[in-house]
Amino acid sequence: MPADLKYRRVLLKISGEALMGERDYGLDRAMIERIAGEIAAVHDLGVELCLVIGGGNIFRGLSGAAVGMERASGDYMGMLATVINALAMQNELERRGTTTRVQSAISMQAVCEPYIRRRALRHLEKGRVVIFAAGTGNPFFTTDTAAALRASEMGCDALLKATKVDGVYDADPHRVTNARRFDRLSYHEVLTRDLQVMDASAVSLARENRIPILVFSIFEPGELAQVVRGQGRYTIIEDTP
Ligand code: UDP
Repeated sequence: MPADLKYRRVLLKISGEALMGERDYGLDRAMIERIAGEIAAVHDLGVELCLVIGGGNIFRGLSGAAVGMERASGDYMGMLATVINALAMQNELERRGTTTRVQSAISMQAVCEPYIRRRALRHLEKGRVVIFAAGTGNPFFTTDTAAALRASEMGCDALLKATKVDGVYDADPHRVTNARRFDRLSYHEVLTRDLQVMDASAVSLARENRIPILVFSIFEPGELAQVVRGQGRYTIIEDTP
């Protein structure tokens, strides 16, 4: 393992909205290219990398429910949206020469592999970026929970949560000028203070499996590569030993 890496195997969670760029909906090519560049750079460092990409740029189950759709049907639509995003990211990474595999929690053999834990582990060992699509495969969950679940199954050293800002704040720093930023938090603090980092089930799962959650800005060029070295700006969520 390269000496300066702090985390050797990581799961990166990217929200669907990060792929939207300045648009209101869908995919922004330039944004995908940029994020793929950050991912490829980290992969080139020798990090074993898996990705979970949300679907909020295309569809969320709750938005469907808000207009009278059955929640579970909306959630399945949301999960399919994550497959679209996964394929877009796969395409961009492979265009750059980074080998990838997409594994979906909902089988669609003609499009990608089904999720098979041991096979995913093998891909990681072989240096392929594994993109987990379709969330957990179950309605009423989120891709944050899918990220914590897959990070646990893959034995990841860290769950990296890509956001628009450089860590966890007690209020939205884009709206509240004196919002307080945290360098470090315990899982308990995140849960009890209801800090909007990841949903509670994702935080609980990471806690149970002792996987630190690192929250950082994906819009800061080179930041992801710093974070895997334990450098740069991020908030770390873990229990102090
Ligand atoms: N979803 C689901 N089960 C899962 C993961 C996702 O039902 O395990 C659905 C849910 O409707 C969600 C949508 O997929 O709103 C998109 O995922 P998410 O909202 O987590 O995406 P993000 O906010 O990260 O873009």
